[in-house]
Amino acid sequence: MEPPNKKIKIENTKLKPPKNQIKIGDITNVKEKEVVPMNDQSWIQELLSQKELTELNSGKWLSDSHIIAAQKLLQRQFKLISGLQPPYLEQHNQFKKITTNGVQVINENSNHWVCVSTIGSVPNTIDVYNSMTKSKISAHIMKQCGELLRSKRKHVTIRSIACQPQVGGSDCELYAIANATELCFGGSPCSAMYIQDAMRNHFLSCIVQKKITPFPRAGESINREEVIFTKELNIYCLCRLPEDKRQCMAECSQCHELYHSKCAQIPKEVFNKKITFSCLQCKVAKA
Ligand SMILES: [Zn+2]
Ligand SMILES: [Zn+2]
Repeated sequence: MEPPNKKIKIENTKLKPPKNQIKIGDITNVKEKEVVPMNDQSWIQELLSQKELTELNSGKWLSDSHIIAAQKLLQRQFKLISGLQPPYLEQHNQFKKITTNGVQVINENSNHWVCVSTIGSVPNTIDVYNSMTKSKISAHIMKQCGELLRSKRKHVTIRSIACQPQVGGSDCELYAIANATELCFGGSPCSAMYIQDAMRNHFLSCIVQKKITPFPRAGESINREEVIFTKELNIYCLCRLPEDKRQCMAECSQCHELYHSKCAQIPKEVFNKKITFSCLQCKVAKA
């Protein structure tokens, strides 16, 4: 198996005017004013490098390093929540199956972040909290949902859940982190009304204090309709994943399950219809 690829590169081209910039090293500027000696900041570096910290502070787009840092904090605080894995693991189908108490921030097509969760849903179902589009769920998100569920059933259910829409084209990563945090704290992104302008500083403050807390909300929570739509995703093969455009699938002549060519190491002759294909389980059962 190939090692997990390098980090997903998110373009840092979009610069926003820094709002209430916190000076790195000036911990007293942070809201809760926790006094940390200037020479005792090495633990911040455990979560983010100086460069990544500066990116967070200067209003640049965040990368998977920031997502990993946020999820590390959540993992430390919520031992019973599964998921919270480095997002790049999906590139090689290496996401581990999550329980019915799972939260995960995932990347969509290298330019967007969404939060998915099994909290509050029935088994074999996963909820998508997307701050951009709620009217459809892309194939890339669906594949990752299937990967996180790894269900033995023939299909899984993916629900698009109402949550706060972001204003503008950036900050999706902050919304994904805010929604993941909300879910871990037992809250509901459906009713959350975050203050978008305060999200970045709040996250920076969480990193500095090495403790994540729910993102600041504007006044009362609002009542959104929870499930916008549901989608059934067919899953196949040993891997329990959907169809993959990059590889063909063949049907086992005995159990009629479909298998990806790489997963089941299906010989080319099967696709030329020169030979029929039997999956390993059926071969073993017959032997
Ligand atoms: Zn497969
Ligand atoms: Zn079979």
